[in-house]
Amino acid sequence: MPEPQAAAVVILLGPPGAGKGTQARMLEADFGLVQLSTGDLLRAAVAAGSEAGRAAKAVMAAGQLVSDEIVLAILRERMAAPDTARGVILDGFPRTDAQARALDGLLAEQGQKVTAVVSLEVDDAAMVGRISGRHTCAACGEGYHDQFKLPAQAGVCDKCGGTTFTRRADDNADTVLARLQAYHAQTAPLIAYYEGRGVLHRIDAMGAIADIRSTLAALAGGVLA
Ligand code: ADP
Ligand code: ZN
Repeated sequence: MPEPQAAAVVILLGPPGAGKGTQARMLEADFGLVQLSTGDLLRAAVAAGSEAGRAAKAVMAAGQLVSDEIVLAILRERMAAPDTARGVILDGFPRTDAQARALDGLLAEQGQKVTAVVSLEVDDAAMVGRISGRHTCAACGEGYHDQFKLPAQAGVCDKCGGTTFTRRADDNADTVLARLQAYHAQTAPLIAYYEGRGVLHRIDAMGAIADIRSTLAALAGGVLA
């Protein structure tokens, strides 16, 4: 049997638009952890037309939460891949109390536990604007925003030179409100859950992307040392 590994498990909590994906990618680059986004995994399942994807499609388009059963199956499979051995940044997971408990169980099986939970604290009112303008390089996944982060050369990705950008089907004003509501009803209670476990850190995520990155890097440096 393989030795249990002491891998870091960092959770980013925050409403849609808080910047979880952007900051998770930076933590990947800075600390060698692997970003694991259940949203990305679900979108891939939808695109592939798998059974899980077919079940998730309409739920996601409505801004509601996909069933714990589907999400947990997808997460479990992804966590089994060898590239996660050094540590993961969970982005968009857990989102419900049941998911948080299932994660504890899954980690316990491997002699691991949650290392740190970072709550990205933002104003709801600003999230609609953040989400409405966002788009992603189709080739490399780098995120952009019509207002806050455009490529240096219009229409050309800074990272890879790609010229095709995609917008998510659920990134529209109507769906955003449902997603914010789902966050407050089902996910925000996890802040208290992790606070009680002594692993919660809150950071102000209303500033510039680079400033939030510095704050997060300092925090992660301390926690992961
Ligand atoms: P955002 O955080 O901006 O809402 P995500 O990419 O994390 O974006 O999630 C997009 C959608 O995918 C959610 O609105 C939800 O329907 C589904 N989803 C993602 N992660 C989960 C999860 N852990 N549990 C249930 N549904 C999820
Ligand atoms: Zn790119």
